[in-house]
Parts: sequence; C-alpha cells; structure tokens
Amino acid sequence: MTPLRYARAADAQDAVLQAQAGARFLGGGTNLVDLMRETIERPEALVDVSGLANGIEESRDGGVLIGAATRNTAVAAHPVVRKRYPVLARAILSGASAQIRNMATTGGNLLQRTRCAYFYDEEGSRCNKRHPGQGCDAREGFNRNHAILGASSACVAVHPSDMAVALAALDAVVHTRTSQGERQIAVTDLHRLPGDRPDIETMLEPDELITAIALPPALPRSTYRKVRDRSSYAFALVSVAGAVQVEGGRVLDVRLALGGVAHRPWRARRAEDILRGGAADRAAFAAAADAELAEACALSDNGFKIELARRTIIAVLEELTGERP
Ligand SMILES: Cc1cc2nc3c(=O)[nH]c(=O)nc-3n(C[C@H](O)[C@H](O)[C@H](O)COP(=O)(O)OP(=O)(O)OC[C@H]3O[C@@H](n4cnc5c(N)ncnc54)[C@H](O)[C@@H]3O)c2cc1C
Ligand code: SF4
Repeated sequence: MTPLRYARAADAQDAVLQAQAGARFLGGGTNLVDLMRETIERPEALVDVSGLANGIEESRDGGVLIGAATRNTAVAAHPVVRKRYPVLARAILSGASAQIRNMATTGGNLLQRTRCAYFYDEEGSRCNKRHPGQGCDAREGFNRNHAILGASSACVAVHPSDMAVALAALDAVVHTRTSQGERQIAVTDLHRLPGDRPDIETMLEPDELITAIALPPALPRSTYRKVRDRSSYAFALVSVAGAVQVEGGRVLDVRLALGGVAHRPWRARRAEDILRGGAADRAAFAAAADAELAEACALSDNGFKIELARRTIIAVLEELTGERP
C-alpha cells in the first residue's frame, strides 16, 4: 500500500499548487478522516489548509468576509455574526457537538458529504455516489431521512450541513482559488442536484480551494429552525433558514432556504416570490409553503417530511414577522 502523504499548506497559492491529482484538502478533518477510516475516501495526499485564512472581517458594503479556515465555533460566537446574522449563528450551534464545532472549518462544513447510511456501508450496500452505475439501495430501503425535493432515480440523499442552509438564505458568495486564478460562486450554485452523477456533488474543480465566504448586508430579522429526532447531536429531518424585512404588515423582502430535504441546501424561491410584496399573515405563509412544496415527492418512509416542512416554513415566518414568539 502506498503511504499517505501529508503537507501543511503555507498559503492559498501553495495549497492549490500541492493539490495535484489524488490529493484532498484537509480542514478540521471531522468528516474527511471519518470517510478515510471507512475507506470511502482514499486520497493519496492530504494538503492541510486548516491554518490558512482564518478570521472574520467587516467589509465596506456592510457585509462580512469569513476566512475558509475559521472554525465553526468562532463564526457562531463572533459578535457581528450574532447580532446581524443570527440565522448563521443558530444554524451552526444546532449542528454536531461543541468539540466538533471547535475543529470544523467553514470550508469543510460546506463540503461535508451526505450521511446516507448506505453511502457509509462500503461492504454491504449499493450506492451510485460511491460507485457510479452500481445502484441506490436507499430508494427501496430505509429512506426516512432522505430527499423530498430535487432527487433523481440515481440518488435520494440529502446534504447534511446546517450552516450551508443559512448561507443559502443569506445569499452568501464563496471565494475560491485554483492554479488558474480566483473566482466567486453564489453559494446557491455551489452544490449540485444528483441527476445521473450523484458522485459529482459541487461545481468545484478538484484542485479548487475555498478561501473565504462573503455575506452581503443582512435583512433585519433572521432565524434558523431545525427539526430532528433528538434535541442535540442529530442531523435535520427538516430545517428552515429565514430572513425578512417587514413594514406595515407587508413583506418587503424575504429569503428562505430548506435543509434536510434535498441533495443541496434548497433555496425556496417560489415561496419568496409569493411572499415578497404581500401581506405578512398566516394565509400568505401557508400559500408560499404550499407553492414551494407542490413538487415534493415522498419515498416509502419520508412522506411526513412534506407536512413537516410546510409547518416549519410557516412557523419560521410567523416567528420572524412577530406573529409567534
Ligand atoms: C457525530 C457528528 C455529528 C455531526 N452533526 C452535524 C450536524 O448536526 N449538522 C451539521 O451541519 N454538521 C454536522 N456534522 C458534520 C460537521 O459539521 C462536519 O464534519 C464539519 O463541518 C466538516 O468540517 P471540517 O473542517 O472538519 O471538514 P473536513 O472533514 O476537513 O473536510 C470536509 C471536506 O471539505 C474539503 N475541504 C475542507 N476545507 C476545504 C477548503 N478550504 N477548500 C476546499 N475543500 C475543502 C475536504 O477535502 C473534504 O472533502 C457532524 C459530524 C459528526 C462527526
Ligand atoms: S441515496 Fe445516494 S448516497 Fe444514498 S445509497 Fe443512494 S446513491 Fe448512495
């Protein structure tokens, strides 16, 4: 067996230069190392980027720039994030455990892989994400946690990150770097739906390093609600990130994203279109939720998620518009 190579990147340029074929970037390692132990990921080399861009800066436009190596705990505890982006602080704090959040980085959190149990079962299950063309045992198997939106016959897995759902509702922008240069990608475009290639999960190139996440100025009120089987240390069955601006009982602006329902954080644009400019009341919230979920499709074990998502969207909007504490 070839020994695994490990190197700490000195800076972003060094990281991308070292990221040759077969190498993977290493953040906190809380997902990648687990996957390596299970032999699902088998990199030839690890380029440790956990010591790179680290910190949170306020930008001139009233937004914030978060270095990709900033630990989840530091993001959630930052006073500007807590004050202006409570949706982000709450999403991070609803995930994993304090110890894992202390290790996990912003870049690594965005790129963590699905928690589909069949994906982890290298020996006993068929999985198109591990081996394209092999089949998907979740479709006819135990699929209580799986997708109700945007799934394909090849894969019904969901993206597990809470933080990514908040970033989708905040219109965050991912800054990246390759040996060819730098680019910026809307976080809502970063992750792919599974289609017939669920193994290709993002639009990033193999050597593309996430260097930072930019948040535009925030809407005045935002929150994150996560519904799960246990009150801690559990992934979302359904989650909703919402941000609103309301004046005189009307919704001036709104952003909504759903977690636990699709292969990527699900930006609820249909719901937003119905809500924007309309009355901030329960009837409008219910109509928006129904429109967003009109094409939801249940598997054998997860039909409950459609009603759960509907109720969670309504509850979050009521909370944000003052109709519910
Ligand atoms: C028991 C347990 C419970 C958990 N519960 C939750 C939960 O409820 N909610 C939730 O959201 N998460 C949860 N997590 C997941 C956890 O949040 C992730 O493991 C963590 O955020 C990953 O960050 P990391 O820095 O450790 O990534 P790593 O494991 O280091 O990397 C993950 C992926 O990102 C890539 N990568 C890392 N940094 C970069 C970069 N800068 N540029 C490009 N690629 C990069 C790596 O190559 C790898 O593919 C849980 C994890 C565990 C173990
Ligand atoms: S749902 Fe996706 S990740 Fe899970 S077994 Fe099917 S192909 Fe694999």
